Amino acid sequence: MSIYKIEIPTPYEVGDVNAFVVKGDALTIFDVGPKTMEAYDALKWGVRAAGFQLQDIEQVVLTHHHPDHAGWVDAFPYAEILGHAYNDKWLRHDEEFLRYHEQFYSERLFEHGVPQEYIQPSVHVRRELELVGERPLTQILNDGDEVPGHPGLQAFETLGHAQSHLIFWDEKSHNVIGGDLLLEKITPNPLIEPPLERSLGRTKSLLQYNASLEILRQLPVKTMYTGHGADLEDIPQLIDKRLERQHQQSMKVYELLGDDQLTVVQMTQRLYPSIFQRMLGLTLSKTLGHLDYLEAINLVTSMKNDEGVYLFKRK
Ligand SMILES: [Zn+2]
Repeated sequence: MSIYKIEIPTPYEVGDVNAFVVKGDALTIFDVGPKTMEAYDALKWGVRAAGFQLQDIEQVVLTHHHPDHAGWVDAFPYAEILGHAYNDKWLRHDEEFLRYHEQFYSERLFEHGVPQEYIQPSVHVRRELELVGERPLTQILNDGDEVPGHPGLQAFETLGHAQSHLIFWDEKSHNVIGGDLLLEKITPNPLIEPPLERSLGRTKSLLQYNASLEILRQLPVKTMYTGHGADLEDIPQLIDKRLERQHQQSMKVYELLGDDQLTVVQMTQRLYPSIFQRMLGLTLSKTLGHLDYLEAINLVTSMKNDEGVYLFKRK
């Protein structure tokens, strides 16, 4: 497959995001940057440098719904928009889905020990929508689906970093368009997001993420085109390194827990004393990820107290 990379600036800490123009039977762009004017210019010039105009693009495929990836679907008013079903709710700015989000986060914050007066101001899903586009999907991609116009290019559902995450494996070239599953310099955050399937309750994002890495590991990848930073090779080695580091960090959480019985908030305070208030959602997600992991490997156990708040302790 012929693939052309476009680097797009974002207002986020992560820096630039990568989009990829892929020429097959169809002309497709994977990810489109956040909906800012700077990103629009970079997208326009990048598509031009690849030898095309914005209006030549026939399909937009999204690796996941986060605003740095899913903003400028609006720059392609006539293209097909494809991605995981979860994207659609975001792209529609669906009011009922947003209320479900806010309800979900309120419940999670409460059950993990955030005092009631901090919960309301912490739940601000709508702010994240500012840089997300407003063209809904024209086609849903499910796990195992082939991308239309690209024979042999297959979507794999790889949740964890996002509840909408897909990677795209090309069986001919053995290349993969990997979104944020594995990145050159950073470990994607296992953000807690409400699942599409509401009966599932809370997703254990870090465990989901680790399972997704195992899906990637099974593929004999030559080059992985990532959502941020450089292309990657030698994927299994990188996965081992990341999993080992994550295990070490979880063991540090285990040490810090000691013989106490703590809520996630108390544990987060211990773990991230200087940034936990400023970055509550992120630090809580990380702490909870480690605790879920420790519980999965049988080192820690959790139970709800009389007020309905979870307490974690060593097993
Ligand atoms: Zn990203």
